[in-house]
Amino acid sequence: MFNIKLENFEGPLDLLLYFIKRDKIDIYDIPITQITNEYISVIDEAKKLSKEIGVDEIRFKTAQVYDYKNGNDLIPENEKYSRYKKTKKGDFVLKNKLYNHCWRMWSSSVITFDGKLVPCCFDKDAKYQIGDLHSSSFKEIWKSKSYQNFRKNILTNRNKIDICQNCTEGTKVWA
Ligand code: SF4
Repeated sequence: MFNIKLENFEGPLDLLLYFIKRDKIDIYDIPITQITNEYISVIDEAKKLSKEIGVDEIRFKTAQVYDYKNGNDLIPENEKYSRYKKTKKGDFVLKNKLYNHCWRMWSSSVITFDGKLVPCCFDKDAKYQIGDLHSSSFKEIWKSKSYQNFRKNILTNRNKIDICQNCTEGTKVWA
């Protein structure tokens, strides 16, 4: 993956600082909608540059928004750059269907700083602790009943597990 460096900016933070300075915005009072729209306008510049320098493919990753159901300033107005879509009622839903599967359950786990084993990096608060490496080996936890139960829940009722309702599994994240 290439990290594109535009003429004046090297990364998102650089660009954010530019907008803050240009519009004399207080750093404690950043208007997220305005900044998001500014970022989107830079997409065309990145596309143009990628053509000029002969990049084969350029893709943009959409953002995960925790609290998306009632709308959120971080959801782009242009649906093409969003994982969510607005319904006729005015609320927001995921664009993709929530399939009962997750490849991560058979390929990796996450170990927290204090030795707890959780299913994946979407469990940021270690709410679904499957085991503790202080008392069991990784192999024991990997094959344990609690891990098998968690996997089974994903294969049958993924929509009942809150962390699994808005993660990247099965989602088209690249706009
Ligand atoms: S949050 Fe997503 S990636 Fe993590 S276990 Fe659930 S479905 Fe899999």
